[in-house]
Amino acid sequence: MNQAVLILIKPDGLKKSLTGNILTRLSETKLEIVAAKMVRVSRELACEHYKHLKEKPFFEEIIKYLQGDLHERKKVMALVYWGKDAITKCRDLAGATNPEEADPTSIRGSYGRITTSGVYENAIHVSSNPEEAEREIKLWFEPKDIIVDLYPVKNAVEKEFKRKVW
Ligand code: UDP
Ligand code: MG
Repeated sequence: MNQAVLILIKPDGLKKSLTGNILTRLSETKLEIVAAKMVRVSRELACEHYKHLKEKPFFEEIIKYLQGDLHERKKVMALVYWGKDAITKCRDLAGATNPEEADPTSIRGSYGRITTSGVYENAIHVSSNPEEAEREIKLWFEPKDIIVDLYPVKNAVEKEFKRKVW
């Protein structure tokens, strides 16, 4: 079944200059990239992304992590991959959440570490199921940023909407 999945190259992945390596690993899946951008992550976006982990003791640390506060890299690379069994294929390549438990040849096994404060710095985020993927993709991307029609859209008329133009 064709699926969409949100991938984030997290600030540690960017700081360690792993973008190329991670994209090369992901290209093994032969999935199609249908959206990609660099994002400066606000606290609101980070909290919404990880809202299911709000009660966890490490919540504040992973918010700082995703915002780039731990790496002086205030950005992430966000991508949407699309194709057959995209979620399983990407999660298999990413490896287990805990980089010490991840298969050593997986992305997290190769590049992840546990910080002295106990955060799993694991270089990459991959949506965990189709419902989460849809929620996350709609959070990180607007319909116009994605080159295929993944989900139904509505027309909205925005009055007095201020935005930067070239
Ligand atoms: N995380 C952590 N300690 C934990 C569990 C999770 O530092 O005990 C971090 C880790 O960076 C992980 C993120 O929180 O990628 C989100 O956790 P989740 O359980 O959703 O794991 P994932 O889906 O990323 O494998
Ligand atoms: Mg998750």
